[in-house]
Amino acid sequence: MKKDIVSMLPEELEADFVQLNEPKYRAAQVFRWLGRGVRDFEAMSDLPKSLREKLKESYEIYAPKVLRKQVSAIDGTIKYLWELRDRQAVETVVMSYQHGNTVCVSSQVGCRQGCAFCASTIGGLVRNLTPSEILDEVIFSQLDSGKEISNIVLMGIGEPLDNFDNVMRFLTLVNHPQGMNIGMRHISLSTCGITERFDDLAARDLQLTLSVSLHAPDDETRSKLMPANRGRGVRQLVKCCREYYEKTGRRISFEYAMIDGVNDTAYHAKLLADIAREVSAHVNLIPLNHVEERPFQPSTQGHMKAFIKILEEQQVNVTVRRRLGSDVDASCGQLRRKRERSAQQAAAQSEGLS
Ligand code: SAH
Repeated sequence: MKKDIVSMLPEELEADFVQLNEPKYRAAQVFRWLGRGVRDFEAMSDLPKSLREKLKESYEIYAPKVLRKQVSAIDGTIKYLWELRDRQAVETVVMSYQHGNTVCVSSQVGCRQGCAFCASTIGGLVRNLTPSEILDEVIFSQLDSGKEISNIVLMGIGEPLDNFDNVMRFLTLVNHPQGMNIGMRHISLSTCGITERFDDLAARDLQLTLSVSLHAPDDETRSKLMPANRGRGVRQLVKCCREYYEKTGRRISFEYAMIDGVNDTAYHAKLLADIAREVSAHVNLIPLNHVEERPFQPSTQGHMKAFIKILEEQQVNVTVRRRLGSDVDASCGQLRRKRERSAQQAAAQSEGLS
């Protein structure tokens, strides 16, 4: 089987090149080509032909194809649907802020976590993304959009901590000085709260920001919205967040999608304030993005204002995330869902015809 070369680190390439009787410095050359998005060995013009032939024999190389690209008329947000080598599809979003361009990447095809408001999880988990597939979301979004990417959020389709090893390798690749060279402080990893992995993550001693999708401060509401809470519970989550903060010195950020009549009352705000203070966390409020298959609606402006007021009175550090790309299905998983729905409709129609 051919190796996935884009997932390899320079030192691993070096070890291989020694086996192939090639000088070590060739590995650094190849790694730089790969980091620039070159996905054809023939285009690596400073390599001798004999080496290019060897590379073709030993390694697999692939460039994701743009299946769909939508550009928001409101704020320029770009949403990509990529086709992977096995014809599965994942989404990437490029958002422009004053401080630079942020790419939101997927870490899995589908998701097994089953959050009740989320579009990505509807068909369950199909498979993990490889390190190269996650990296290519960043590289090819930058190449296609012409926007230099300065920040990365792992907030697309999938649960990054359910694909731990591949996500860690992606981080090493994207952070590499001879690659994209994106600093860890410019990267956020978002989790629904897979607390068993917090220690492993803290042990890597990365300078990234851990975002925890809290969405409710009490077990009753949270377990209804997020199956990951069942069997873990808010208390355990809070304890693990606190420990993570103590070990890494990195403040956690709580994501909180405001859902009308579900998690947006004064009761929820007060409990959330207690938890945020206990963990020294920053709270990021997001008005829920309505998903067609889901019964939930975003909170009203009035409810959001009252909620924010309570948090601020309790000295909680809170921001409201601007909604970007609302006209391009920018909420995670929606574009992939659309493609699946139309495939199902086409299948149903052809069955009806036969
Ligand atoms: N699995 C990870 C990362 C992917 S989701 C996690 O759960 O954090 C990225 C963020 O979008 C999470 O905070 C998730 O809860 C949130 N999200 C999912 N569906 C949403 C929706 N319809 N509206 C607003 N936020 C949503």
